[in-house]
Amino acid sequence: MIALNDLKRASSDEGGRVTEAAQRVLASGWYVLGPEVVAFERRFADYCGVEQAVGVGNGTDALELAFRALGLRPGDGIAMVANAGMYAATAARAAGCEPVFCDIRDDSMLLDPHALSAIDAGSVKAVVVTHLYGLLADMPAILEIARRRGWYVIEDCAQAHGAAREGRRAGGWGDLAAFSFYPTKNLGASGDGGAVLGSDTDLMAAVRALRQYGWSDKYHVGRSGGRNSRLDELQAAILTERLVDLDRNNARRRAIADRYASALTRSSIRMQPADGEAHVHHLCVLRTDRRDALREHLHGRGVATDIHYPCPDHRQTMWSGLYDQVHLPVTERACRQLVTVPCHPWLREDEIEQVADALATFQ
Ligand SMILES: *Cc1c(COP(=O)(O)O)cnc(C)c1O
Repeated sequence: MIALNDLKRASSDEGGRVTEAAQRVLASGWYVLGPEVVAFERRFADYCGVEQAVGVGNGTDALELAFRALGLRPGDGIAMVANAGMYAATAARAAGCEPVFCDIRDDSMLLDPHALSAIDAGSVKAVVVTHLYGLLADMPAILEIARRRGWYVIEDCAQAHGAAREGRRAGGWGDLAAFSFYPTKNLGASGDGGAVLGSDTDLMAAVRALRQYGWSDKYHVGRSGGRNSRLDELQAAILTERLVDLDRNNARRRAIADRYASALTRSSIRMQPADGEAHVHHLCVLRTDRRDALREHLHGRGVATDIHYPCPDHRQTMWSGLYDQVHLPVTERACRQLVTVPCHPWLREDEIEQVADALATFQ
């Protein structure tokens, strides 16, 4: 079976570099918030074209700490899509804020600027823009709406490390950006990790304090809402090594997605539009009205599939019906059509051809 991910292959592809970095940290005797974290934060901020990065425990914490740093308060509304795995909604609830779900565009499956400008603004103070599956959202249009309404913009870049349009990378558009380095992400650690990125000195100082108990200085708590969410030295050292390969791996993902697109030219199966550098294909997500049949066909030809994500956020049982009156027709239809196929950078050519053939022969 061709799997959606194969991190063992990724590891052997890296040779000894990552192991050496890990050994260097183990021998150093410094394991949390040390020189490796500082070095990675610098490199990753430079890579994304922002002033600063602050390493945190994971991507969900990165979103929550970004909300807190912006001063969002319990009861404040945060606009977001409902097809992005519930991460932003979880972070919003952790900060006491209320998700205000917004529909997506049918072609890109990303936040629809028209739907955003039509929401009942009420308590809304911010918008989360998720660059879902690796595709950079329509930031100029969204920024314009947000600026007009006085909303903060937080980019969720957990699936879009390195995606760029007109030379501007994911993370370089909003007030703050959240990244995850969960192992399967385009830039993945060997455990959990995340970062908040931004260029505003005060906001970034707030994030830095909030990730460590709200400290203004060691043992002096200057800021409320703080907690412990730190990136460790081992993960930072590993991420520094892997950052070097990010562009190459993203190019590989692009080539694989292009190959699948060419196999689908005469098919009723749709793909998210390829968009040059703006798409880093974290996931290759197809859409069909005959999902069960397609999955069965692919499985029969040795191709694993999954669904990202099977339940839209506003229909999760945890809400106990809170959003029952919210209808997002494009999101809900897309959700019934989604199928994810393997497109990780360590697929072999024969496997890529096997997936492409399986897609081309679906009737
Ligand atoms: C993975 C992911 C997150 C959460 O990251 P964690 O590190 O798992 O907390 C947030 N948003 C999106 C879009 C993701 O894919």
